[in-house]
Amino acid sequence: MAVINGLWAREVLDSRGTPTIECTVWLDNGGVVATSVPSGTSIGQYEALELRDNDPQRYDGLGVLKAVEIINTQIAPRLVGQNPTEQAKIDQLLIELDGTENKKNLGANTILAVSQAVLKAGALSVGKPLYFYLKQLYQLTDYLSIPTGVYTLVSGGEHGAENLDIQEFQVIPASFIEFDKSLEMATNLFHQLERVLITKKVTHSVGILGGFTPTLYSNTDVFELLTETVKTSRYVLAQDLFFGIDASAQSFFTGNKYLLRDKGGGYKADELLKYYKQIRDLYRVFYIEDPFREKDQKYWAALMEDLGSQVRIISDSLTATNLKRTQEAIEKKLANTLVIKPNQVGTISETIEVIKLAKSANWQIVVSHRSRETNDDFIADFAVGVGADYMKFGPPNRGERISKYNRLLMIFHELKQAQNSSQTAQTQSASTSNNS
Ligand code: PEP
Ligand code: MG
Repeated sequence: MAVINGLWAREVLDSRGTPTIECTVWLDNGGVVATSVPSGTSIGQYEALELRDNDPQRYDGLGVLKAVEIINTQIAPRLVGQNPTEQAKIDQLLIELDGTENKKNLGANTILAVSQAVLKAGALSVGKPLYFYLKQLYQLTDYLSIPTGVYTLVSGGEHGAENLDIQEFQVIPASFIEFDKSLEMATNLFHQLERVLITKKVTHSVGILGGFTPTLYSNTDVFELLTETVKTSRYVLAQDLFFGIDASAQSFFTGNKYLLRDKGGGYKADELLKYYKQIRDLYRVFYIEDPFREKDQKYWAALMEDLGSQVRIISDSLTATNLKRTQEAIEKKLANTLVIKPNQVGTISETIEVIKLAKSANWQIVVSHRSRETNDDFIADFAVGVGADYMKFGPPNRGERISKYNRLLMIFHELKQAQNSSQTAQTQSASTSNNS
């Protein structure tokens, strides 16, 4: 059994040039793993807190040197000599060291950097790929497969450029399509959309996570562009793919209205509900994330009542990967699908508890990236290993998103190979028994 020989954190930069934490673990058998943690832009009020230096002289106060120091001086000495496969024990130690509900002492970023590094070290110590190790450790799924992709093609809201109010407009390949083909579809549509934008002389620059940020009169206009994109491609809407949105509605709620530019003066909550039903009917929108702000629970429930049997209604900021909030959302039937972002809570063990709870209520799971990422592909293995139904890793554009998709391609091929060799073994054993 390998044990942790050393742990070292340092400050690195994320995809937006903002500091984040990278943590390296050495094992006594010579194995080394490193991992880094992401950050959000549209950060929900119920998320665990990040620890930042708040030193205006460095990176606008966003440095993480305090977090790095905590890992190197307070956490590392406690982990040396520990077995990295004892994830629950190590996570508990981190939770107790912090001692708060929202991780305000150590910071969720500090805690996750260590928790994630320990998980990777555990997989390395037993010589298994991370996704396989996760499956064995938590047994959240009976078989391994690549989750259905939710690919953002157009960005607005806090991910955009004052261009649109809805944060993400997505394409979702039908779930029967194998991952290599679904990724190809998403990239084909991304490039086709670029051609449509250029033909129409609409800006085709991209936002903070690589989605196009066209300036349009209304959010609904995006669906017209997407419809044209699909029509001029080799794919068929509602057969090969569906549309989705992450409204991130709390970000366009002001005063007492949801300010979508589609209607002068904006929408009251009940009008917004009608808007969602319209886009569902007109454009086959199948995935609606954060349709209302967290307080408008009545409307979440009403949307579920009206569309919940045909459409995925997804909670992200509402539940914030938090066990109590997820329990409440399940009891009140506010959604049917849950976004999982490990950095909203802090440790891997707590994240797993939330996934277990959601699965036990028959909710589906979306494992999601954050808008500020690094090239770490950790989240790809995580999505596969916990048996997520969907993965949301952004547009098929920009290195930090592509690193996740390339890792999924690798896992896809490994799973195919394993399947082929088990079929060959079965055929061989059948022919041996027939011959005997
Ligand atoms: C999201 O809202 O789902 C998202 C990925 O954005 P962020 O990371 O900015 O919260
Ligand atoms: Mg979201």
